[in-house]
Order: sequence, then structure tokens, then C-alpha cells
Amino acid sequence: MILADCHVHSEFSSDSNASVTAIIEQAIHKGMSYFYLTDHHDIDFPKDAAGGLEFQLDTPSYLEHLLRYKEEYADRIEIRTGVELGLMSHISNKLADYTKKYPFDFIIGSSHLVRGMDPYYPDYYEGRSQKEAYLEYFESIYENIQQFQDFDVYGHLDYVVRYGPDKTMKWDFADYAEVFEAILTKLIQDGKGIEMNTAGLAKGLGYPHPHKDILHMYKDLGGEIITIGSDAHTPEHFAYGFDVAEQVLLSCGFRYYALYKNRKPEFYSLES
Ligand SMILES: [Zn+2]
Ligand SMILES: [Zn+2]
Repeated sequence: MILADCHVHSEFSSDSNASVTAIIEQAIHKGMSYFYLTDHHDIDFPKDAAGGLEFQLDTPSYLEHLLRYKEEYADRIEIRTGVELGLMSHISNKLADYTKKYPFDFIIGSSHLVRGMDPYYPDYYEGRSQKEAYLEYFESIYENIQQFQDFDVYGHLDYVVRYGPDKTMKWDFADYAEVFEAILTKLIQDGKGIEMNTAGLAKGLGYPHPHKDILHMYKDLGGEIITIGSDAHTPEHFAYGFDVAEQVLLSCGFRYYALYKNRKPEFYSLES
């Protein structure tokens, strides 16, 4: 069984009301050995882009709370500190200052905004084809990782395909294979992993992020670091679809998943 859910949000994220203790209890109930919290921090998130949500993490308070829970739960589960950092190339210096300042165990880099626009909203697609809009999202990932490397895994690489205006969530990997090859090659060169994010299943995509073709390409190019997370914003979604995630990874030829401690991956068998 998988020993931890590596992508979890709580009331410290502006889009969740989940109490930290409720999610920790859920993790213990599910027999997990480790607990990660990875609340959102999106530097320069435009105030009006998500109906007033700002996604600014009060990091000192967050880490102080996690330290307290770590002590309180020490004999039941090992608590590790994480963050989901929204990446954009123009804020690379601010991102670097942030990651230098705080001692996380695990940092997910991810894309929620492109040029300050949120692909969740129709404005992002205006005046162009869905394919062009998706391509810009993927190209922005490549730009982000050129500018900033102080993260551990890239989260939900194909997140944008949930929100295209045709509402089918269907897309053809072949249309974007070139940019994915560049992204994955760079991630592997820099020793970065990618994340398998089961919110894809929970949100009706039919598979966990990223698409199998991306997983296969990462593997073929020599990539070995995969973390598994539900992206839960409620205790009910904690570790959602992990049985599926495990099967998909095995079918793509992966034998191990990673858990980070002090920003270093430790590998665990998917088959035990
Ligand atoms: Zn995210
Ligand atoms: Zn998330």
C-alpha cells in the first residue's frame, strides 16, 4: 500500500475549509505512515482572478502549526511539511527567496496561472483555439522550469485539459509531444520528479493526471521520480483513487514511488 498522500490542502489554503486535524485523523484511519500538507502559495495571484481567493499562505503560522501537530501526533504518524507553489517565470526571484527562507520537506511546483490568467476561467481562451490555449499553458511550464529549479516535483502537468471551452476534457497528446519532450527532458536533467495527481479522477477526467502518454514519455526519457497525491481539499477526498494510481504507474513500467524528506526523495515499492 502507498504510505502517504503527498498532495493535500487544508484551511490554510484559501479554497479549502478542511481542518488539519480532521485530515490527519483520516490519514491515520487509512493506515498511512506519513502525513504531508501542501497548501497553496501563489505569489502574485491576481486578487480578482478567482472570485476573491488570494492563495497567499501565511507560511510562518502554517509551519508553526505543523510543528505543533508533529509533536502531538508523533507516536501515531510522521508529519512532514510541504507546499504547493504556483510557478510563473516572471516571479522566479520571489520564488527563490521564498524557498530559501522556509525549511520544507517537499515542494510541489505547479501552474495555476499563465501570464497572470487562470485557465479555469473562459477569459483565458478568448480569441484563440483551445489547442493554442493549451499549448501556451504547456509552453509556460517549460519557461517556468528554465527560470526556477528549487522545487521537487511538477504537479498536475496536464491540469489545463480539465477546463477547455469544449468541456469534453478530450485532447490529443500528439499535438503537444514536442513541448512535453522539452519539459520532461529538462525536469530529468535537473533531478526533478513529476506528480501523479488523482484529482483528475475525482474531477471526471477519467484518469489521474498526467495522461499515460506523459508518464510513458517521462519513463522512456529516463525519469524515475514519481510522487502520488490526491490534491484533496476535504478529508473525504484524502488518498482518493490511490488503487487506480498504483495500477496506472505499474502498467507504465514504474516500480517505485517517492516520498520526500528534507527535500530528498526516498523510494518505496509499488508492489508491496
Ligand atoms: Zn494545483
Ligand atoms: Zn493542489
